[in-house]
Amino acid sequence: MSWFKRNKSAAGPPITEDGERRVRTEGLWSKCEGCRQIVWKKEFDTNWNVCPKCGAHSRIDAATRLKLLLDSGEYEQFDTGLASSDPLGFIDSKPYRERLQSMREATSLSDALISAAGKLDGRPVHICSMEPRFIGGSMGSVVGEKITRSIERAIARRTALIIVSASGGARMQEGAISLMQMAKISAALMRFDQARLPYISILTDPTTGGVTASYAMLGDLNIAEPGALIGFAGPRVIEQTIRQKLPDGFQRSEFLLQHGMLDAVVPRLELKPFVSKALRFFLG
Ligand SMILES: [Zn+2]
Repeated sequence: MSWFKRNKSAAGPPITEDGERRVRTEGLWSKCEGCRQIVWKKEFDTNWNVCPKCGAHSRIDAATRLKLLLDSGEYEQFDTGLASSDPLGFIDSKPYRERLQSMREATSLSDALISAAGKLDGRPVHICSMEPRFIGGSMGSVVGEKITRSIERAIARRTALIIVSASGGARMQEGAISLMQMAKISAALMRFDQARLPYISILTDPTTGGVTASYAMLGDLNIAEPGALIGFAGPRVIEQTIRQKLPDGFQRSEFLLQHGMLDAVVPRLELKPFVSKALRFFLG
């Protein structure tokens, strides 16, 4: 075995759920999308994909997000077997069924969301974490059903609810059925509100389309990570519709906070203590 081979495996990134693939295909260094500087991959990983040089937040997967927020990174998963039945028999550049299958293999998830229960600073919570790599974190019937069941479980067990969004919006391959999820989840959140329990929405890069237009903006607190793209329609469509040039930083967290659309912008490494404090405020 060569020096390189031995040391590559010893110094490589820690094995995560999709670990094997990452270890094989990625090197020891990665380039920050913010400052374009080369960062030691291990340093980047241990800093939860926040650039140690400029603070830019790169995307993290759903499972890593749960490890970040929950005590000891431990959680129980629900509805792992739910899968889309391809109700429209949809075909774009390839059949939806095939697309789903390749995404399942790439992410080891059945759809674009992990529904979990765990503890946050000792307090039981139900939490849904979206997976941006699964067809762009798009919301179809499975995402809608998993969130709705999670809300119902949180009501039954009287716990707080957290949803971490990372989504391109409704899943076009499920047409109107994906749009109906907006109403279904919103109605469940109404019942959650009537149960007088707190719902914290965490918006991460990107949160757009039907997700922004429904549950992502319905939290008792809506908080976002720095620099996240958050919006409904894309900027080009808006410019063409209103025939005006859009201001700089439009649809980024900081702009939305300034204009009263968010309650706070919280860096990733401060998210857990922030949410913990908020839950203490809501629940005593
Ligand atoms: Zn950077």
